[in-house]
Amino acid sequence: MNVVEQTIECIGCGACADVCPVGALSMRMDTRGFYRPFLDQQTCIDCSHCSEVCAGLTDSLRYPSQERVCYSGFLKDINLRRRSTSGGAFTALAQVILSQNGVVFGASYADDFTSAVITSTEERSMEALRGTKYTQCYPNHVFSRVDEMLTAERPVLLVGTPCMICSARKRFGNSPLLTLVDFQCGGLMPASFLSDYVQDNEKRHKSRIASLNMRDKKHGWAKPHMRITFENGTVYDCPYQCDRFLFYYYKPYFKNEKCLHCPFVYHPDADLTLGDFWGYRSAGIKNSRDGISLIAVNTPKGEALLREASEYLTISRLTEESVSYAFREKSFSMDALAKRNAYQSEAIGLSLIDFANRHEFRHGIIGQMFRTAIHKLKR
Ligand SMILES: Cc1cc2nc3c(=O)[nH]c(=O)nc-3n(C[C@H](O)[C@H](O)[C@H](O)COP(=O)(O)OP(=O)(O)OC[C@H]3O[C@@H](n4cnc5c(N)ncnc54)[C@H](O)[C@@H]3O)c2cc1C
Ligand code: SF4
Ligand code: SF4
Repeated sequence: MNVVEQTIECIGCGACADVCPVGALSMRMDTRGFYRPFLDQQTCIDCSHCSEVCAGLTDSLRYPSQERVCYSGFLKDINLRRRSTSGGAFTALAQVILSQNGVVFGASYADDFTSAVITSTEERSMEALRGTKYTQCYPNHVFSRVDEMLTAERPVLLVGTPCMICSARKRFGNSPLLTLVDFQCGGLMPASFLSDYVQDNEKRHKSRIASLNMRDKKHGWAKPHMRITFENGTVYDCPYQCDRFLFYYYKPYFKNEKCLHCPFVYHPDADLTLGDFWGYRSAGIKNSRDGISLIAVNTPKGEALLREASEYLTISRLTEESVSYAFREKSFSMDALAKRNAYQSEAIGLSLIDFANRHEFRHGIIGQMFRTAIHKLKR
């Protein structure tokens, strides 16, 4: 049976559309602003290939792995470290693969910043791939393109959400030239939110966006800010609690259904899992301002790549105790989930900005800053 006729909490990875031998599936945006597959029933030959690669159809594969071993790490190159979200482990891993004439796949913004797409170093620079994009990305036939590279016998590093990496493991197994990397995913916002947000900011600042960083480190890694520079030279620099996009990112209200009870984060199919190492204090790390990566090694292949990447990284082995915070199941309060239901029904037909302006941002950013300060005082 094809994926569209089954009950799937789809995460929009695009694996089904890429594997379909007759092109019966295409990835398009649904009414909630998420990419998902649409079926051309006349073309479908009911081969079930799509179901075989779908991460939404099972819990994680629980790919046979070694016991998890964790490291803290940061790039030796301070400039690249500052331009990365955490400590820049991704850049170090990518440098190894690129030095072997390989290809690195990750996420980059489109030129106008209204969307993010899965892309590769064949099309975009490492600078474009670097950095966390808290939005669902257009999959852009990534599985077919990885397949092409592997067929051409080029080493491939594929970085993606744990759910997407689960689909990749189902499709490619333990292909010797492919290394899979995921991250400690907090979930994805609908792709449409980013375009609403970008258009609203361009209107407010009367200029096109020149760069956008959802985890800017100017105020320090542990104080993430949204930073947007505009072509007219103005700069928008806002703490995450008061920014219209990031405020909603850290709430469950609009995230993909699957993200609320995600099975993938705790059972990764990736060779390596990256994250922010928020346990740095308990591990006695002082030099944290520019960001520290948590690097979990899940397989021998991951271990071998990290060993090579340590040429570019300062790494230290971590105890299970210092990383236990990172592997605990996350949950949302009943109040937050009830609010989610109310918000979801109200938000139909509204843009994120219209919605925000009716609720948390009805008194603008200053009002939201005030609310945040009161909330902190109460705690
Ligand atoms: C949506 C999302 C949620 C996250 N939630 C958490 C969390 O709750 N806790 C935590 O500790 N860490 C989280 N992370 C991971 C963290 O933000 C960093 O991405 C990770 O530590 C790697 O950082 P880095 O410094 O090594 O490299 P960076 O240079 O920041 O590399 C980030 C890598 O992720 C890829 N990427 C970025 N956005 C996406 C996307 N939307 N889809 C697919 N690939 C993408 C980039 O192409 C790049 O390869 C999240 C990341 C994302 C993308
Ligand atoms: S989870 Fe991925 S493979 Fe499954 S239906 Fe959605 S897009 Fe297709
Ligand atoms: S939270 Fe889970 S389901 Fe959601 S994008 Fe991340 S890995 Fe996928």
